[in-house]
Amino acid sequence: MMKNIGIIIELDNGRVKESNFGMITLARAKNYELFAFVMDADAKSVKQDLESFGITKIVEICLAPAQRNNPAVRAKAIIMALKEFDISMVLGLSTAMGKDLLPRIAALIGAPLVMDCFHLDLEQSCVKTSQYSGKTIATIQVTGDIRVFGIRPNAIEPIKAPGSARILKFDGSNIVTRGFKVVKTNGNDKGTSLNLAEADVIIAGGRGMKNSDNFTLLFQCAKKLNAAVGASRVAVDSGWVPYSMQVGQTGEKVSPKVYIACGISGSIQHFAGMKTSGMVIAINTDEGSAIISNCDYYTIADALDIIPELTRILENG
Ligand SMILES: Cc1cc2nc3c(=O)[nH]c(=O)nc-3n(C[C@H](O)[C@H](O)[C@H](O)COP(=O)(O)OP(=O)(O)OC[C@H]3O[C@@H](n4cnc5c(N)ncnc54)[C@H](O)[C@@H]3O)c2cc1C
Repeated sequence: MMKNIGIIIELDNGRVKESNFGMITLARAKNYELFAFVMDADAKSVKQDLESFGITKIVEICLAPAQRNNPAVRAKAIIMALKEFDISMVLGLSTAMGKDLLPRIAALIGAPLVMDCFHLDLEQSCVKTSQYSGKTIATIQVTGDIRVFGIRPNAIEPIKAPGSARILKFDGSNIVTRGFKVVKTNGNDKGTSLNLAEADVIIAGGRGMKNSDNFTLLFQCAKKLNAAVGASRVAVDSGWVPYSMQVGQTGEKVSPKVYIACGISGSIQHFAGMKTSGMVIAINTDEGSAIISNCDYYTIADALDIIPELTRILENG
């Protein structure tokens, strides 16, 4: 019998974010039909992208304009859509949005939830996720009528599987919640426009960057590399950059293709957030640093010299 999987699609300015495609690839299997939940976007404009990865139903969820940024309303809308389309498994990205939305959905329906998964066995209902700062990999089997999984962005290589999708509408415009109102949403003007969890390339700074002003060097370089800027906890605790940029055990877990660590020693807690990177490059003055023995390429040099030089080379081609 065919089973239905609901996949919550994240959009950026009306465009499907790349990291959704790995998640869809992970969910594809015989006897499973993939429903994409698209909130507050024109499903027609994302249809081609989604059907090229094997989505067969696109559910366009409409919310009242005043409720669009309200995660409690979004969670309720998804839950109602799950019932409407007989969905037994929900996937979303383990991004800032997913970390807000998925636990709400799971809590409201009493469903089991595993976040930050990088492997999924649909038949066994098993997922893999890392634990204890990446020291162990847990294989977790869940049961229940509906199961909720957060998928680590960029952890799965997207593979196309072209087909065609039908658009379905779900009206959530009457949904309201009590006790929770989003008053204002501010952008973070200190960071780059690229999302840390989604970026293919991350350039990150630690104590070796020495102060807040020197992080400007990383932002300038990131622009040329089309990279996001990350940071160690020391850089965040020192007030040089906001917490949203922290990579590690108590920060963001990232899996970029390339991670450039500048003036970062490579503590266990930092590695916990970036050890699944495709390639790690370190710029450090100390050859004895842990990052040097755990990276693919390194240079023993002052990051404050190397980064502007790298930017200059990228500028001049
Ligand atoms: C419960 C817990 C959770 C934690 N969570 C996190 C987390 O999520 N993320 C995180 O990052 N940390 C976390 N930490 C902190 C972690 O233990 C380390 O203290 C931290 O990662 C170190 O940051 P750092 O590498 O920037 O600084 P340091 O360890 O001080 O390293 C600085 C590095 O910069 C190099 N350097 C100095 N000057 C230069 C220069 N001019 N050019 C190039 N290199 C230079 C030095 O050789 C050194 O290797 C956590 C700790 C605990 C206890």
